[in-house]
Amino acid sequence: MLNNIENIENIKKIKNSLPTPCYLIDEEKLVENLEILHGVEVRTGAKILLAQKAFSCYHLYPLIGEYLSGTASSGLFESRLGFEEMQKENHVFSGAYRDGEFDEILKYSNHVIFNSFSQLEKFRDRTLKAGRKIGLRINPECSTQQGHEIYDPCSPRSRLGITRENFLINNLNGVTGLHFHTLCEQNSDDLEKTLDAVEEKFGDVLQFSQITWLNMGGGHHITRPDYDIQRLEKCIKKFSEKYSLEIYLEPGEAVALNAGYLVTEVLDIVQNDMPIAILDTSAACHMPDVLEMPYRPPLMDSGLPDEKNCTYRLGSQTCLAGDVIGEYSFDSPLKTGDRLVFCDMAIYSMVKNNTFNGMPLPEILLLKKSGEIKSLKNFGYEDFKSRL
Ligand SMILES: *Cc1c(COP(=O)(O)O)cnc(C)c1O
Repeated sequence: MLNNIENIENIKKIKNSLPTPCYLIDEEKLVENLEILHGVEVRTGAKILLAQKAFSCYHLYPLIGEYLSGTASSGLFESRLGFEEMQKENHVFSGAYRDGEFDEILKYSNHVIFNSFSQLEKFRDRTLKAGRKIGLRINPECSTQQGHEIYDPCSPRSRLGITRENFLINNLNGVTGLHFHTLCEQNSDDLEKTLDAVEEKFGDVLQFSQITWLNMGGGHHITRPDYDIQRLEKCIKKFSEKYSLEIYLEPGEAVALNAGYLVTEVLDIVQNDMPIAILDTSAACHMPDVLEMPYRPPLMDSGLPDEKNCTYRLGSQTCLAGDVIGEYSFDSPLKTGDRLVFCDMAIYSMVKNNTFNGMPLPEILLLKKSGEIKSLKNFGYEDFKSRL
């Protein structure tokens, strides 16, 4: 999960000089990911878009835009951000669009993806008049993730995507593409399975000459070391050739995977059955996926409980009893003032921050390739007050 040794050593050296809590974005690792993704684009002709909902740190959009083809958005604000800051191809999907926001969305988005035939009916003419492309999100009803219903758009009674039973094959006026998104942190074997289901359920639609593009959504963990890129490329080529389609992928995680840290300070050590370190960061406020998913974030220089000499529960300043990041062990006892570095904190972190309990938002810093550190954004009391 960690970066190359040189980077880790570098971060250990600088961690005591950083303001805490802070996110530190690792430019070198980001570029490494982008090179992998760009390689897939070059070898397959597919276009890869940044799913902004995972990583909207727009200061890096010019860099990301050097490697990727554009942005994918979840609605008006993300589509505006992609339009303003990346200025490349911009796709938008929303479970449903509001009438009052739709004309503005059309200003920013090249491809507009609808989640139902009623939404298509309602917005079709305006979309075509604006010269934008229309896609429909389909639900191939092929669950490939177990025990993660909250992240599975193919779970029973899902609202995401049109099932074949509800697909009005005679009402495709103006529709030029299909979209599916069913994966989450998965490898290309699951994509392959999903594509079999897409073909079985919607192969006839893909054959229509009016259907010229297919967006395969996100959840492709392409930049993870064990990801089978060759199989992904085989899948892309098969579909683009067999059905004459332009293929899009819109990964979020894979773009900034392992490309950021959350640096925090130990404020106090208390006791209750075991030693508990209280940190100036919060799972609930600064890494909500730890509680929501849930998962255990990697922490530099630590082990599983009892793997190393000294085991601690790591918790936050907040009043929420469950605001606990997990239990970790260390070679030597923690003490007040120590810095801890959580890894893989660029994705689904900054975009999900909140100020519950009046917790401050972590400053956002960039660790440049040159080793220089640049502050991108810092927050204060006004950021808490102004939202209320
Ligand atoms: C969440 C989402 C993505 C990005 O998913 P990752 O798991 O971050 O790769 C892409 N497209 C859609 C429609 C999504 O909902």
